[in-house]
Amino acid sequence: MMSYKEMTKEELQEIRKEVAAKYDELKAKGLKLDMSRGKPNTEQLDISMGMIDTLTDYNLVGEQGVDCRNYGVLDGIIEAKRLLSAMIECPVDNIIIYGNSSLNVMYDTVARSMTHGVMGSTPWAKLDKVKFLCPVPGYDRHFAITEFFGIEMINIPMTEDGPDMDMVEDLVSKDEAIKGIWCVPKYSNPMGITYSDETVRRFANLKPAAEDFRIYWDNAYCIHHLYEDHQDHILEILEECEKAGNPDMVFKFCSTSKVTFPGSGIAAISASKANLDFIKKQMSVQTIGHDKLNQLRHARFFGDFNGMLEHMKKHADIIRPKFEAVLEMLDKELGDLGIAKWTKPNGGYFIGFDTMDGCAKKVVAMCKEAGVVMTPAGATYPYGKDPHDSNIRIAPTFPSTEELKQACEIFVTCVKLVSLDKILETK
Ligand code: PMP
Repeated sequence: MMSYKEMTKEELQEIRKEVAAKYDELKAKGLKLDMSRGKPNTEQLDISMGMIDTLTDYNLVGEQGVDCRNYGVLDGIIEAKRLLSAMIECPVDNIIIYGNSSLNVMYDTVARSMTHGVMGSTPWAKLDKVKFLCPVPGYDRHFAITEFFGIEMINIPMTEDGPDMDMVEDLVSKDEAIKGIWCVPKYSNPMGITYSDETVRRFANLKPAAEDFRIYWDNAYCIHHLYEDHQDHILEILEECEKAGNPDMVFKFCSTSKVTFPGSGIAAISASKANLDFIKKQMSVQTIGHDKLNQLRHARFFGDFNGMLEHMKKHADIIRPKFEAVLEMLDKELGDLGIAKWTKPNGGYFIGFDTMDGCAKKVVAMCKEAGVVMTPAGATYPYGKDPHDSNIRIAPTFPSTEELKQACEIFVTCVKLVSLDKILETK
């Protein structure tokens, strides 16, 4: 295959005819497919069904004598703390177990900062301006939280090693209005990028102008490897922050949403003792305690962290072929054409795809017309505005492999068609 850009106008026009005919043929099939949802498929949910049976002996008293049916234990039972602290790599004393959603914990964390500040700082709502740094492309629901609270978002380009740290260091050191940065440090949503050790160290050594600046370290995909022999690792940020003399600068978030059930997992926050003490003051007003039966269910189902890692291998076995089917199709159909780039992640839930500038919206629209729903173009940027109109998030986990292949065929056909039109404009 030759790069489209090296071809003559006549050659391109010829190819365009063929691709357009293929598009019409695919469209005529009237398929209904979806590559937009970062959800586990049913087979994945089924492997956690044993969790439902873990409490049927009616022994609902936890290790420390807590009757898990009753009120109490604000920050989580020890069994759940042990499990999730191993998952998120923090001491058992540096974690609070919440309810079923880490996004909810992140929302709460920002909401509390708006109304009550961060460890004694001025509530953000009383400030003229509050800003967040947003590595892009990133997770749309992070951006939705900061947008909801009227927090100004600043794009930070992602590199292969994580966010552009020159830019992050420069901005946070100068601007007191910058109060946070959204990070998905491992197998990021949507690019599948893992931050390098240098990036993590530079994060830990930031010198923010704002004392209430925090790194929002959303480790949603910390144990979500696709391969046993190619696994990414990140430095542990709490420890690095402590070494750097910034022990309070980070909030780590995680959940078992993509380990057990997204609707009924357990979530957690990990941070320094000072941060956790401040958070618990609010929590004790907000709730008498989260769902301890679910915490117990998780602890009993896995036994220990090794049990959880074994379980993750089963997930990997189910979703690896799906990632590979998509990647194979992209390589085969678009490999040498010079019109797109995409990532080959070692884990997580997504493949990040970049079209030529100015093509993503059109590609997604054409896919839709032919029966394939993709994540809306732009969704991976604050305010839904991708300045290059190039990023598309591919979510391979939910459809069957057969459906994925069909969806991918339509996707690559749309990418070719839109790119051909773009190139022909300039010929
Ligand atoms: N963070 C990231 C980066 C995610 O991709 C997701 C799920 N798509 C979440 C958080 C949501 O997690 P939870 O279900 O725990 O709210």
